[in-house]
Amino acid sequence: MKIYKNYIGGKWVSSSSKKTFFSENPATLQKLGKFQLSNKKDVDKAVESARKAFKKWKEVPAPKRGDILFKVAGLLKRDKERLAKLVTVEMGKVINEARGDVQEAIDMFEYIAGEGRRLFGHTTPSELKNKFAMTIRVPIGVCALITPWNFPVAIPAWKIAPALICGNTVVFKPSSDTPLCAVELVKVLIEAGVPKGVVNLVTGSAEDVGQTLVKHKDVDMISFTGSVFTGEYITKNAGLKKVGLELGGKNPIIVMEDADINLAVDGIIWGAFGTTGQRCTAASRVVVHRKIKKKLENALLKRTKRLRLGNGLNKKTDIGPLINKKALEKSARYVSIGKKEGAKLLCGGKIAKLKGYYFKPTIFAEVKKNMRIAQEEIFGPIVAIISVNNLDEAINVANSVRYGLSSSIYTNNISYAFKSIQDIEAGLTYINSSTIGSEVHLPFGGMKDTGNGTREGGIHGVEEFSEVKTVYVDYSDRLQKAQGVE
Ligand code: NAP
Repeated sequence: MKIYKNYIGGKWVSSSSKKTFFSENPATLQKLGKFQLSNKKDVDKAVESARKAFKKWKEVPAPKRGDILFKVAGLLKRDKERLAKLVTVEMGKVINEARGDVQEAIDMFEYIAGEGRRLFGHTTPSELKNKFAMTIRVPIGVCALITPWNFPVAIPAWKIAPALICGNTVVFKPSSDTPLCAVELVKVLIEAGVPKGVVNLVTGSAEDVGQTLVKHKDVDMISFTGSVFTGEYITKNAGLKKVGLELGGKNPIIVMEDADINLAVDGIIWGAFGTTGQRCTAASRVVVHRKIKKKLENALLKRTKRLRLGNGLNKKTDIGPLINKKALEKSARYVSIGKKEGAKLLCGGKIAKLKGYYFKPTIFAEVKKNMRIAQEEIFGPIVAIISVNNLDEAINVANSVRYGLSSSIYTNNISYAFKSIQDIEAGLTYINSSTIGSEVHLPFGGMKDTGNGTREGGIHGVEEFSEVKTVYVDYSDRLQKAQGVE
């Protein structure tokens, strides 16, 4: 079996632990390779290498850094099909969605590469004569990027691209469920000409690699995407480092009485069961007006029963496996919880009798907003239907969770649409579309416990990965004091 190594200081190296772990295909349970089970020493070396490389990399003009990122985008385009297959094989999502995962990375590198010719600051008049005031963007330093498995190419790209364009160097710790995708992405970065030490890859456990990075004295920033649980750990342990957190969701789709039901059903199927429900933006709650509840339930049930489970490489498959056994057991556990809470199981609710981690797409009706299945992130193909009498009640239900990532409303009533835009507590609100489907040039992130207020994507990603410096140039040849002090 092939052994994959860490990438530190421009070299592929083994961990000093001499230990490895496996990555497996969740559809077939086939082992895909051995990866370094790294320890604190490896992390120290990677951070040291990133620190050393930072001195030179920050001096490379940003448009030149952008040239390298354009090359990354080009190479990802060349390798799109190969990488998409790898995403399906290692993470399980169906091939069409895997192509989208890689495309998102291409879009992000291309978009951010252009930022190298902008990285705008502001100029503004000074309150004093013969004085010039402006802001510029400077890099932060060594950024530790800790990523989940559900977008194994796109999410690292959302962090690596803005980190590099701003002049930072990187230590990348990918999820232990998708280290192969991480290795292949790093190979592309190397081929594009990212200098040695600028990007370092360290695979291994949350405890030995993740926590060491979080507490490391020489790491300047942690950019993390993953669960609220880990986000809370990072908040408590990162000290005064800059921290970016993109955490979980319990995203609602509201369907009002005037909605186009077929369009809403399309959106619910895609939002709830796309990526087997394993998206932070998955539509895990449907909040429906009582008048159309039966009609919507029937239409949704009919469509759900037609969904085909299977290996994502098969073109006919609609839903791939869950990521691992733990995730499978979690979905099964939440079905029991839902039944005990008194929700009505309309379909699914079972582990499928297939090799691999397959769970049947599941719909619960008669759900109350405070039930655990309506409050907690399950991260599986399970959707809860909650009925309401009016828009105020719908928005109240939408806002009744700790999360605030994505949201959606299906309606043709402009007042309903604008009231939702105004009052739903979420980082994203879609009108007449599902909760999922972000574009790289727009900000992405959530309110409440979904994060700490940072946003990735668009210009916000650049802001996240840089510091603002305020510059005053006084050319009056005398000491001028601000605020009118004589
Ligand atoms: P996770 O368990 O929090 O793990 C994410 C990453 O953090 C992995 O690399 C993991 O390493 C590492 N990690 C875990 N505990 C750590 C610790 N104490 N210190 C440092 N690193 C630690 O999350 P996941 O199960 O991979 O991903 C699913 C979650 O991600 C869901 O909650 C989902 O909503 C969220 N998500 C959010 C967004 C967003 O943009 N808001 C996007 C995608 C996913 P190991 O793999 O080695 O354990």
